[in-house]
Amino acid sequence: MSDYIDDVQVESLLLQLHQLRDELSEEVESLQSAAQPVLLDQQAFGRVSRGEALQQQDMAKANLNQCQERIRQIEEALLKIDSEDYGYCDACGNQISLPRLSARPESPLCLSCQSKKEDASPS
Ligand SMILES: [Zn+2]
Repeated sequence: MSDYIDDVQVESLLLQLHQLRDELSEEVESLQSAAQPVLLDQQAFGRVSRGEALQQQDMAKANLNQCQERIRQIEEALLKIDSEDYGYCDACGNQISLPRLSARPESPLCLSCQSKKEDASPS
């Protein structure tokens, strides 16, 4: 296991990862129904215009993608814990700080690589 994180910390991060995955899976399910193709049935939307409904659908889709991406990172983090690679940055190989792991246990990148990545991709 990563030598700078002790077993107790790994246990608690592991627990967090499992809880997070369960929460996100539930969210994915509810978002999947919100991202369904918009029905043209006036009854179904009442006073909501079709444009608004489409906008909500787009937002649901964007959230859905984010949730699915996070679940994917969580799965990878769980695999890394198994293979004892957990806690090291995917990009530079440095240790990811424990406060960062506690805040976002699925994070595959250290803080500086993450901010570089965010600078590089326009959002
Ligand atoms: Zn890094």
